Formats: sequence, C-alpha cells, structure tokens
Amino acid sequence: MTARPQARRPLVITGALYVDMGQQNHAGRWVRPPRARYECLRCRTTEGPVSGAADVAQFVATIRAAHPTRCTTTYEGAQAA
Ligand SMILES: [Zn+2]
Repeated sequence: MTARPQARRPLVITGALYVDMGQQNHAGRWVRPPRARYECLRCRTTEGPVSGAADVAQFVATIRAAHPTRCTTTYEGAQAA
C-alpha cells in the first residue's frame, strides 16, 4: 500500500466572502449601509447577509473560522470527493 504525501495538496477554495462597504453621505449618515455575506462552496450554504458597520466588521473577522463549525459538509469528506 502506498500513501501519497499530502504536502503538495493544491489550494482549495472553500468559500466566498462578499463585502459591500456601503456609502455615507457628507454628513456621515449611511445612504447604503455596509453589508456582508458568506457563501460556502462545500455545503452551498449562505450565511448572512448582515448589515451595519459593527455587524459587518464582526462578521468579516469571524466567519471564516465560524462557518466550519456549522458546515454540513465534513472537510474530510470534501477532500475525498
Ligand atoms: Zn459549509
């Protein structure tokens, strides 16, 4: 039995993070509030969208680590596919 080394595994894109930075008027009020959503390419789930500057900042900072804890596709299963 031969085990292939895993060191040269190609980069796999697992999800896409979409961020709309929104638009403020001259007075600093939001004309279009910031929005963000994350689409997982493994389980085809979309998280979000969230809106508002604070919520978007929090979402962007945490979603790449948070989604795998909720992802319905196991990463080992995806690699075997
Ligand atoms: Zn997922």
